[in-house]
Amino acid sequence: SVPLAFFSGIGAGSKRGILFKGGVAIEALQGVKTVVMDKTGTITEGNFVVQKCVANEMEEEELLRLAAVCEKNSTHPIGTSILLAAEERKVSVPDPERITEISGKGIEAVLDGRQILCGNQKLMEQYQVDLTNGPKGSYGTEVLVAVDGEFAGFLVISDTIKKDAVSAVQELKRQKIRTAMLTGDAKESAEAVAEQTGIDEVHARLLPEEKLGELTKIREQNGSVMFVGDGINDAPVLAGADVGAAMGSGADAAIEAADVVFMTSSMEAIPASLEIARSTNRIAK
Ligand code: ADP
Ligand code: MG
Repeated sequence: SVPLAFFSGIGAGSKRGILFKGGVAIEALQGVKTVVMDKTGTITEGNFVVQKCVANEMEEEELLRLAAVCEKNSTHPIGTSILLAAEERKVSVPDPERITEISGKGIEAVLDGRQILCGNQKLMEQYQVDLTNGPKGSYGTEVLVAVDGEFAGFLVISDTIKKDAVSAVQELKRQKIRTAMLTGDAKESAEAVAEQTGIDEVHARLLPEEKLGELTKIREQNGSVMFVGDGINDAPVLAGADVGAAMGSGADAAIEAADVVFMTSSMEAIPASLEIARSTNRIAK
């Protein structure tokens, strides 16, 4: 049976857009020592905008067209931002013969018999693309493009952190909760977000299946963990955490795998959920 106090916790949560999937979720939240978060769509808005196209030996528009061809069926926020940029610049995007998504890395497509790659450095490494003429400094999120194994250029894409991200991390610190970020994105953009928000620990360039391994290490070092994510890729980590929480704006698979759902998709719901769980505990005892 569910103790009466948990109903008050569930009620307090619902007033703040926090959906606890039962008393077990509230109980598990009480012991949380570290909040581990995904970056894109959790700490950031997930509204990517193409800022720049840097082409090697072709027109900028052609580079954008090749990238958009790869992203034609993409629902990834990076992919949709590329499609939007192509549309805005009235670049026509033909259908490729084939599109293959490579999880955590990007896309491989075939257009007019040519292989096009669009994704991160790991994707380029997988296909042994020489990046001697690749991007030099740290630009944030870079999407690299290659044609038939030759580097063709890159797009610079930016995202913004949620407006309550800084105050939410501060509040977690006040509650003596450690914070960590796990992301598939490049080290530079991950570190920039961590620096802006004050997150304690960052692990970048992770494949979806590697996130669970990092989470397990954090648990071994510091005790019970809550994971907050939003993507399809995040479902295994959500299930593997002591408490899994999903942003309401996230993928159905994430919402289904979660113990707690933040309907408003705000960051401040994270410390609020911990606070509600603790006060529910005091009433329950
Ligand atoms: P996160 O952990 O930040 O939510 P993902 O696991 O969804 O990130 O993706 C990790 C990285 O893989 C992205 O930062 C990007 O570099 C690359 N990537 C994934 N999907 C795509 C795509 N459709 N187009 C280009 N790059 C992609
Ligand atoms: Mg994500």
